[in-house]
Amino acid sequence: MIETLSPEQTKAALALLIEDEKLSAEDLAEAVKRCPTAEVKRMVDIVHNSMCKDQHDSEQEGVKPECEYHQEDQEPNCWNQYEHQKWLDKTTELLGEIDVANEKELLNAFQTVNTTLTKLSQIKGARKLLELLLA
Ligand SMILES: [Zn+2]
Repeated sequence: MIETLSPEQTKAALALLIEDEKLSAEDLAEAVKRCPTAEVKRMVDIVHNSMCKDQHDSEQEGVKPECEYHQEDQEPNCWNQYEHQKWLDKTTELLGEIDVANEKELLNAFQTVNTTLTKLSQIKGARKLLELLLA
């Protein structure tokens, strides 16, 4: 039945369930969090791929702990699982901290930082210089 509902019907039905106290707003918020949009999923992947320090390929086996997000990715309901929810939380927090609203802005932010870090790595003593400038 759910498959045949229009977006308007779905919204109205959920509002009725909350109004009739058959569903709490908290339950709905929790369920929505486990069903992120395609763009949010891509943003979580970008953040995970940029920030995860765990092992993602078998070449470095044994050097670092194996990435559980990567393992969950192989499963159909991965967005329901612990590591995906953890990285979703991290991503949501990061987007707020750096004031980014969408995938394009997130990609631009990472690109700018990567370009800057590449340029900085060409300067001997860049770390010390930055410390002095930011102090
Ligand atoms: Zn990972």
